[in-house]
Amino acid sequence: MEAEISRRLGLFNEIGRVVLSALDQDEIYKVAVDAIRFSMGLKHVALFSIDYQFSDLVLKAQTGDLMSIIPNQLRKNMSAGFLGKAARTACLQTVVVSRDNLSETLVGHPVREIYVPVSIAGQPYAVLYVACDPQANTRPFELSAFETIAGLLGIAIENARVFTEVNQIQRDLGLLLDSSKDLNSSLEVNSIIDRLAYRLMEIIADSRLAVIQCQADEKATLKRYYSKASIENRNYSVMTIRVADHPELAEPSVSRKATVTYHVDSSILPRNVADQLKSTETTPFLVIPLIAKDSLVGFIVVNKFGFRRSFTEKEVSICQALSNLASISLQNGSLFEQINVANEQLQRLSNLKSDLLHIISHDLKSPLTVISGYAEILLDGPDRVAENWGTILQEIISQTRMMARLIEDTLAISKIESGIIELNLEDVDIMYPIENLVAIHQHECAFRKNLPQGLPKVKADKLRLHEILDNLITNAIKYAGEGNEITVSAVPDLKTGWMVVAVKDKGFGIPESEIPNLFKKFYRIKNDASRRISGTGLGLYIVKQMVEAHAGKIWVESKLNEGSTFAFTLPLSQ
Ligand code: ADP
Repeated sequence: MEAEISRRLGLFNEIGRVVLSALDQDEIYKVAVDAIRFSMGLKHVALFSIDYQFSDLVLKAQTGDLMSIIPNQLRKNMSAGFLGKAARTACLQTVVVSRDNLSETLVGHPVREIYVPVSIAGQPYAVLYVACDPQANTRPFELSAFETIAGLLGIAIENARVFTEVNQIQRDLGLLLDSSKDLNSSLEVNSIIDRLAYRLMEIIADSRLAVIQCQADEKATLKRYYSKASIENRNYSVMTIRVADHPELAEPSVSRKATVTYHVDSSILPRNVADQLKSTETTPFLVIPLIAKDSLVGFIVVNKFGFRRSFTEKEVSICQALSNLASISLQNGSLFEQINVANEQLQRLSNLKSDLLHIISHDLKSPLTVISGYAEILLDGPDRVAENWGTILQEIISQTRMMARLIEDTLAISKIESGIIELNLEDVDIMYPIENLVAIHQHECAFRKNLPQGLPKVKADKLRLHEILDNLITNAIKYAGEGNEITVSAVPDLKTGWMVVAVKDKGFGIPESEIPNLFKKFYRIKNDASRRISGTGLGLYIVKQMVEAHAGKIWVESKLNEGSTFAFTLPLSQ
C-alpha cells in the first residue's frame, strides 16, 4: 500500500510538474494528454474544453491508439452522451463500451471510458477523457487519482488564464499608450478617424469596419473599410446616409457607449458581408460612438470575419477606451479646424484692409489732387480761367464720377471679401437692364442688340445684374478704338437651363497673355492703349464674383486690334 501511495505521489508530482510549467492553455492541453497517458499507461487520453456560448464541447488535444477514430476538430453538444453528462453534472462518469451504449460513448471500441470534469472555481471548464482496458482502473481509489489529476489541470489552466490576462493587460496598456501617441499626432479630423479605424482593426483581429461621420442636417458620410490596406490606400467606398434611418445607431447615440447589436441595416455593412449573411439577426456587430466636445460626431461599426463571432467584454472595453482617446484627439482636431477657419477669416480681413488702404492712398488721392488743382484755378478768377471754363468743369465732373465709382467698387469689394454677397433672387426679364443701359450710354457709342423674341426670364438679383452689365458695357466703351460698335446679346439654352449674355466690342482687344489675369483684383493691362484710360482694375474682379454668386461663369474671347467679347451665364427661371 505504501509503495502504491509513493508511486501515485510520484505520478502526480510528475504530471503536476509538466502541466504547471506550461503557461499557455493550448500547450497545457497538449502536454497534459501526453504526460497522463504515458505515466499511467493508458490507451487514449483526450481533453475537451466547454464552449458555453454554443453549449458545445470542443476537442483541444488527444493522444493514443484511437486517434484515427476521434476526429481532431470534434465538437459534441453538451446535452448528449457521457461526455455531455460529465460537463453538465461536474461528476465523473465511467462506462465500458458495449452494444447497448454505443450512442452515448465516444468510441465504438471495447474499452473502458472515463470522463473526468475539470473545474475552475467550482464551474466545469473542461472534460478529461480516458480510454483504458475494460478491467483497468475499476477501483474507487484508481478513479480518484483521475480526479486529483483533473484538479491539478484546473489549477494549471487557471494559472495560464491569469498569466495570459496579465500579459494581455500589459499589451493593452502598451497599445493604448501607442494609440494615444498616434491619435494625438494628427490634428486633422479625417486622419484621426482613419488612425482610429486602423488601430481597431489591429486590436480586433480579422475584422472589417464601417466609419460613419455625422454631418449637418442629420446626414452622415459612410466609409467602409475592408482591410488595413484599404485605409492606407484610401480605396474605401464613401456614401451618404441618414442617421435617423438606422435604429441600430440609436442606443449607442444615447448611452454613448460601445454596444454590441444584432440588427444592422445591410447598407452600412462592410462590402460582401450583406451577401455572406442570409440574416444579420445572429451576427454580432460592435457599434462604437465617437464623441467630440460633448457631441456625437460619428460611429464605428465593427464586424468580425467568420460566422457569428462575438466580441469579448475585453474587446468591447478596449474599443471603448480607444474611442475615448480618439474623442480627445477629435476635440483637438475640431478646435484646430475652427482656429484655421478663424485664421482664414482674419487673413481675408487683413487683405481687405490693405486693399482699402491701397485704394485710399493711390486711387482716391489722384482725382482729389486734380479736383483741388482745378478749384484753385477757378479761385484765381475769370481772367485765369478764360475760355477753359467748360473744360475745367467737365474734368471736375469726370474726376468726381471716378471717385464715386471707386467708392462703389470699394463697398462691393468689402462685401465680397467678408463673404457677404447677399442676393435677392427674382425672375428677371433681362431685356430691361439691357434697354436701360443702352439708353444711358447711347450718346457715347453705337449699339446693336441681339435679343430674340420671347426671351425666357433668368433667376437673378436685379441690382447686381445691372451692375454686371454696366461694368462690361462701360469697359467696352472705355477700351474702344475708332469706329467702335457694341453688340449686346442674350441666347437662352433651354436644354442646359442657362442664358448666355455677351457684350461684344470692336475695340483694342486684349493680348492673349493678359487674359488669365484679367479677372484678378487690381489687374490692369499696361500697354499704350490702356495706360491713358483711368481705372482701378477692380471692375472685372467684382463682375466675376457676382456672376459666380449666381452660380454662373464668365469668360472672354478677344483678338488684338479687332475687339473683345465678354460673356457670362445666368440660370434660367424654372
Ligand atoms: P479698369 O477698367 O478699372 O482698369 P477692369 O477690371 O474693369 O478695371 O478691367 C481690367 C483691365 O482689363 C482693364 O485695365 C483693361 O486693360 C482690360 N479690359 C477690360 N475690358 C476691356 C475691353 N472691353 N477691351 C479691352 N480691354 C479691356
